[in-house]
Amino acid sequence: MSLDELYQELLLDHFKHPRCKGAVTQPSAELRLRNPLCGDEINLSLRVENGRISDIAFDGHGCSISQASASMMVELLKGKTEAEARAALKTFQELMSGNDDQDLSNLGDAAALAGVRKFSARIRCALLSWEALRDCLDKAK
Ligand code: ZN
Repeated sequence: MSLDELYQELLLDHFKHPRCKGAVTQPSAELRLRNPLCGDEINLSLRVENGRISDIAFDGHGCSISQASASMMVELLKGKTEAEARAALKTFQELMSGNDDQDLSNLGDAAALAGVRKFSARIRCALLSWEALRDCLDKAK
């Protein structure tokens, strides 16, 4: 199995079996974001306690890339500190803007989305949940 096929399988697995789907109780912040280009919608909610993301979940609908990206992100960030989450956000944004010269080990399954860059129209799909994350972390302060 090639790396591309492996990534494709991972993406489909997250799309078909989304992790942490729903909404958290007593969220510190929540945000609904839409990508009108593709019809994607992500509703992200998270709870921050003592500088750590104690709970995070998403709901939404749209293309496989947008939903898999959200699933990969929430699975990765649950239990992480705010600083770790912001570091992962920066790595992912850099990855999507074409920077291959960086360590992707803090991205978990989301590193599999690197292949999305071949389809520039879909980059927005992959970034949607991460943009919601950035706004939620800012609001949760
Ligand atoms: Zn999409």
